[in-house]
Amino acid sequence: MARYTGAVCRLCRRENLKLFLKGDRCYSDKCAFDRRSYAPGQHGQRRGRKISDYGVQLREKQKAKRLYGLSEKQFHLFFEKAERQKNVTGTNLLVLLERRLDNVVFRLGFTNSRSQGRHFVKHNHFLINGKKVNIPSYLVNTGDVIEIKENSRNIKAISDSLEAVVRRSVPQWLELEKDNLKGTVKSFPVREDITMPIQEQLIVELYSK
Ligand code: SF4
Repeated sequence: MARYTGAVCRLCRRENLKLFLKGDRCYSDKCAFDRRSYAPGQHGQRRGRKISDYGVQLREKQKAKRLYGLSEKQFHLFFEKAERQKNVTGTNLLVLLERRLDNVVFRLGFTNSRSQGRHFVKHNHFLINGKKVNIPSYLVNTGDVIEIKENSRNIKAISDSLEAVVRRSVPQWLELEKDNLKGTVKSFPVREDITMPIQEQLIVELYSK
């Protein structure tokens, strides 16, 4: 299945959670979820619907997939990779998703959303350890230094995002040198660094059926 290209605010309303997919707008009073916090569509305001266990697991997977902006196939590939690793599969999955370069540039405040991060990475605006990397799914490693390319430093969207990063703060596993437009991966994220309410065990249960 291809990546979703429709109205992203519908996704927040569907998942009953602010997924912060639209940058600054998510923090303003224009947020569609704050205005209409019920599911989209004709039956969105129906109350008391019973959801099966499968439905609950499916929603949790959809929530994580939409948060990181992945297609079903990409998400499943990440799950398979997580399964092959040692330790807890659900935690492995979230850590892998967090290590994606499009997420990291967003977390560092270089972009105002993961989708903008993906766009900017594809357009060659970032260097990792001095080398050009334009693959949004690139997984960062401890010690990697991510910086904005010299001739991309005047992009207004980047400076605006950096101004706004105080609003969501940079996670502990990353270090931002705002003046140098540079960030360092201090360590891999741990479960506690991932603060969005995702119950990863439900995703594991869904894929284990
Ligand atoms: Fe979600 Fe942001 Fe749209 Fe609000 S503005 S509904 S948080 S994408």
